[in-house]
Amino acid sequence: MPTYNAPIEDMMFLFENLRNNKNYNEIEKYKEVNSELVKNILDEAAKINKNIILPLAKSGDENPTILENGVVRTPPGYKEAYSKYIEDGWTSLSCDPKYGGQGMPKTVSAFFDEMLSSASLSFKLYSELSIGAYNCIFHHATDEIKSKYLPKIVEGKWSGTMCLTEPICGTDLGLLKTKAAEQLDGTFKLSGQKIFITSGDHDLTENIIHLVIARANDSPSGTKGISLFLVPKFIVNEDGSIGHKNGISTGSIESKMGIKGSATCVLNFDEAVGYMIGSKNKGLSSMFTMMNLERIIVGIQGLGISEIAYQNSLSYAKERKQGKTNNTKSNNGADFIIEHADIRKSLLNMKSIIEGERALCFWLSQQTEVSLNHLDKKIKQEASDIVSLMTPVVKTMFTDMGMEITSEAMQVHGGYGYTKDHGIEQLYRDNRITPIYEGTNSVQAADLVFKKLVNKNGDIISKYLEMIKNDCNIENEKIKPFTKELNDHIEILSKFTSWIKEKIKNSKDDASAACNDYLKALGFIAIGHAWIKVLEVSFKEYDNNKNFYEDKIQTANFYFKRVLPRAESHFKTAVTGSEYIMNFKFN
Ligand SMILES: Cc1cc2nc3c(=O)[nH]c(=O)nc-3n(C[C@H](O)[C@H](O)[C@H](O)COP(=O)(O)OP(=O)(O)OC[C@H]3O[C@@H](n4cnc5c(N)ncnc54)[C@H](O)[C@@H]3O)c2cc1C
Repeated sequence: MPTYNAPIEDMMFLFENLRNNKNYNEIEKYKEVNSELVKNILDEAAKINKNIILPLAKSGDENPTILENGVVRTPPGYKEAYSKYIEDGWTSLSCDPKYGGQGMPKTVSAFFDEMLSSASLSFKLYSELSIGAYNCIFHHATDEIKSKYLPKIVEGKWSGTMCLTEPICGTDLGLLKTKAAEQLDGTFKLSGQKIFITSGDHDLTENIIHLVIARANDSPSGTKGISLFLVPKFIVNEDGSIGHKNGISTGSIESKMGIKGSATCVLNFDEAVGYMIGSKNKGLSSMFTMMNLERIIVGIQGLGISEIAYQNSLSYAKERKQGKTNNTKSNNGADFIIEHADIRKSLLNMKSIIEGERALCFWLSQQTEVSLNHLDKKIKQEASDIVSLMTPVVKTMFTDMGMEITSEAMQVHGGYGYTKDHGIEQLYRDNRITPIYEGTNSVQAADLVFKKLVNKNGDIISKYLEMIKNDCNIENEKIKPFTKELNDHIEILSKFTSWIKEKIKNSKDDASAACNDYLKALGFIAIGHAWIKVLEVSFKEYDNNKNFYEDKIQTANFYFKRVLPRAESHFKTAVTGSEYIMNFKFN
């Protein structure tokens, strides 16, 4: 089983040093969230993740969730762990105090999400969609629905789901068939089948609150006729108590490659009572509140799994002896594999990407809070544009890098990585879903290129690149080689952006074939930007903690020499166009 120690030092470094964000600091309700409080939260979070949740990863993999006589049973240990998890209040961390939440900002809850993803993604998913449902209800439902459902979700006694996918409708939600028939009392009856529903049914909570997209009887076809409904597993009575079972049954549970402890369900809705959330036919835009926040969290899943893969690779490389290096330190026998240049390169690749991603995520969490809470509408909108630009980037980049890093971790472990001995192959399998769900990574890349670069508020990508350039205006001579490198890559990305904007107008196939490359180029630059922020502090504060800051500077050095240049190769590949791809005849 892999071991795990939460990277609290790095998290606290970010919390204490990357807070000079004026707009974020103006949010009144977070002024009390100080270092001491956050350190206490992270210490407690580290304990529950290491001691209680991490052991569930193996047991969930070996004893997957099952459907038995119509009842879904989670793996051994899940129920006890979940009780402790909600008793300690972890479901309420980022929720509004009005509904029983602790009101922590996303800068803090993102750290918790990362730890939980490292410990057990399967276990995490049971509460993750609950927070997604909380956000959707919080932003779009009536006060009556909010006060009826939110306190129980916040407490963790009820969980949530997101029901979009159907057998013929995955990426293309416009194809959905689930029907919603309006009743005289204003409620709806939903009939249809949803598949692949995470936590669709289980034995951890008293009730499950499904957020379901469906088509009202008189609504048009396509995405313009989709509405959103709250459909509880058990009807909730007027006084908030649980009533009779709704018309929902679990058809089956998917047998999967990874995340075997997570219940991925086929749900059949048979005239199930539902309540419309938001306006009729505007369901997708309400659902996007849930999906957008969720996409960033899926990115964080990739980061969390990468972290535990790295930690275990590092310790294995320090213990395993094989072969002699060019500068061998042993007279007889072999050197530790950490002495081999190739292994060192792998470890640094992992570390420099992970720490850069964590810093980027912290910065994006600040932007998300500004986009939700700042009082100045213009500032709020600008932050919202940046979050919307960066959401597909974080989702895709972190999860694809998660595949690269778990694969490298397996390679570092050699045969013991491929076999089950060290639990590394499970990390690879568990992470494999993250580039697929919440919108596949290719679809995220298309979203970025065709919808996010420019919007009604202007040329968002150019504003973002300008902002990075401004952030690179740092006087310290020592940082200049890094800022120069980043600026050079921004120039490349600017050329890439002009090229792709032109192709969007004149050759859509060229643009489509370049989407993934464009996203990666932007992603490597965004992580480079986060590293500049870390470096600025590291050079300034160097004498106060030499070991820590030297480690940061050397890790960044690797990132700028070996990882950032991958942005340019994506540009070179993309501009070869698509004719040779589109004209190829597959036999
Ligand atoms: C374990 C698991 C958990 C899940 N949890 C949930 C959940 O809780 N709720 C829920 O609603 N769904 C859930 N899903 C469904 C998941 O979100 C979908 O599988 C995913 O969105 C892709 O849909 P699809 O599988 O139908 O693939 P398809 O849409 O058929 O896509 C197949 C391939 O075609 C590509 N493709 C499709 N359209 C385009 C396009 N326009 N441009 C370029 N390429 C395209 C895709 O990138 C993909 O590579 C889950 C799935 C799994 C496996």
